[in-house]
Amino acid sequence: MGKTNGNGKAIPRILIVGGGYVGMYTAHRILKKLGKDEALVTVVDPRSYMTYQPFLPEAAAGSLSPRHVVVPLRRVLKRAEVLTARVTDIDHERKVAAIEPIAGDPYEIEFDQLVIAVGSIARTLPIPGLAEHGIGFKQIEEAIALRNHVLGQMDIAATTKDEKVRRRALTFVFVGGGFAGIEAIAELEDMARDACKIYPNIRPEDMRWLMVEGSGRILPEVRPALGEYTVRELEKRGIQVKLNTFLESCVNRRVQLSDGTKLVASTIVWTAGVKPNPVVQRFGVPLGERGHVMADPTLQVEGFDYVWSAGDGAQVPDLANPGKFCSPSAQHAVRQAKQLADNVVARVRGFEPREYKHKHVGSVASLGLHKGVADVYNVRLRGWPAWFMHRTYHMSRVPTFNRKIRVIADWTLALFFRREAVGLGSIERPRDEFAEAAGDLRKAA
Ligand SMILES: Cc1cc2nc3c(=O)[nH]c(=O)nc-3n(C[C@H](O)[C@H](O)[C@H](O)COP(=O)(O)OP(=O)(O)OC[C@H]3O[C@@H](n4cnc5c(N)ncnc54)[C@H](O)[C@@H]3O)c2cc1C
Repeated sequence: MGKTNGNGKAIPRILIVGGGYVGMYTAHRILKKLGKDEALVTVVDPRSYMTYQPFLPEAAAGSLSPRHVVVPLRRVLKRAEVLTARVTDIDHERKVAAIEPIAGDPYEIEFDQLVIAVGSIARTLPIPGLAEHGIGFKQIEEAIALRNHVLGQMDIAATTKDEKVRRRALTFVFVGGGFAGIEAIAELEDMARDACKIYPNIRPEDMRWLMVEGSGRILPEVRPALGEYTVRELEKRGIQVKLNTFLESCVNRRVQLSDGTKLVASTIVWTAGVKPNPVVQRFGVPLGERGHVMADPTLQVEGFDYVWSAGDGAQVPDLANPGKFCSPSAQHAVRQAKQLADNVVARVRGFEPREYKHKHVGSVASLGLHKGVADVYNVRLRGWPAWFMHRTYHMSRVPTFNRKIRVIADWTLALFFRREAVGLGSIERPRDEFAEAAGDLRKAA
C-alpha cells in the first residue's frame, strides 16, 4: 500500500473516510478527473457498499431487491484502493490515519488530502428499554430485518391461540415522524395490508400501527398543509398518528407514552432524527455545538488546507439561505460531493477551491404503492403523481446505469406479479438447523 505509481514515482494519496453518499460520489468524480499518475484515491468504510437510503422503505416493503439499493464500492470505484475498515484516529502532525480493518491488527496509512465523510448516526435518548428492543431505519440490514420481522409477527399472529400474543405480534410502534419514519411506517403498513390477502385470519383492522411524534407536526421538510394531508391519509388507512407525544419507556416491549397510553408491541422502530457521527471527535478537527465538523463554503475544514468535509456529519454554510447551514439530506450530499471533488482536484493541481451553493429544491416521499406527497419547486403534489415523481426522481439519481436498470426491472416485474410476502427472519440464524442436527448426532454417538 505504498504511495507510488507504476514507475515508482511518489504520488499524493487522497484519503476518503466513509464510502456513503459523499464519499462514494467524491471518489467517483476525483477518479474521473485525475489521471492515475496524479493521485491515489483510498476509500475506507466498514461496509463494502454505499447504501442508497431513499430506497430503504421500498426495500423494506419488498418493492426493490436489497442488492439493488446498494452500490458495491469496488465495482464502481475500480481505480481506487477500497479498504473495508474504520478510521479510528487522525494524527495531523504525521498526516496518518489509524485504520481498524474488519479483521486483523490495526495499522496506519499516510495521506496528503483528507476527506471526512462519515455521515450521521441515529439520535437516541436514554429511554428505558429502547436500546434492548428498538431498531433504527438507516441501513439496509435494518430495513430487511424489519421486513422479515413484520412478516414473522404475522406468522405468529396467524398461528397462536393466545389472544395476548396475537395482539402483541400485530402492534407496531414507530417513533419519529420525519421522512424516514413516515416512509417506513407507510411502506411497511402497505406491505402488511397486502400480505393480509394470504393470511385468512388476519384482517388489516386487526393490526395496530402507531406513529409517535414529539412535535406538533410530521414531515417538517414539506409545507404544513402537506404534513396535515399525510396525517389524514395515514389515519384513513388505520395508522394512528400521535403528535406532541413522547415515548417514555419500552421495558420488555411494554410501551408507555407521555399521553398515558400503554400497550405491548412486538415492534418498536426509532426514527427520531440523526446526529453527527461521534467518531469525528477523534479526528482533531474543529466541531460545532452539535458535534458537526465545521467546514467553510469551499467544504474545506476550518483551519486546514488539506482537510475537507461534507454531508450529514458536516456543518456547511448554506449560501442560498444566508445565516443557515445546509440540511442533512442526500440532495445536498450529492451536490456537495461534486464540488468537494472539484476542489480537491483543484488543490492537487495548484488551483483555488470554489464555494458550494445550492438552493434546496424540495422533497418527495413515498407512502406505499401508488401513494405519496411532494413539495418540489413550490409545486405541491399528492397521491399517485407524487408517488410517480418520487420513483422517477430517485431512479434518475440512483448511481450507475447498471443499478438503474436493476431498479426498473424490479418495478416492471411488480407490475405483473404481486410482491412476495415471505418472511425470511431465520436467515439471521443460518446455523440453527445444522446445530440441531449436530446436537442430535452427538446424542446418538
Ligand atoms: C430511510 C432514509 C430515507 C432518506 N430519504 C432521503 C430522501 O428522500 N431525500 C434526501 O435528500 N435525503 C434522504 N435521506 C438522507 C440521506 O440519505 C443522507 O442525508 C445522506 O446519506 C448523507 O450522506 P453522507 O455521505 O453524509 O452519509 P452516509 O451516506 O450515511 O455515509 C456515511 C458513511 O460513513 C461510513 N463510516 C461511518 N463511520 C466510519 C469510520 N469510522 N470510518 C470509515 N467510514 C465510516 C458509514 O459506514 C457510511 O457508509 C434519507 C435517509 C434515510 C435514513
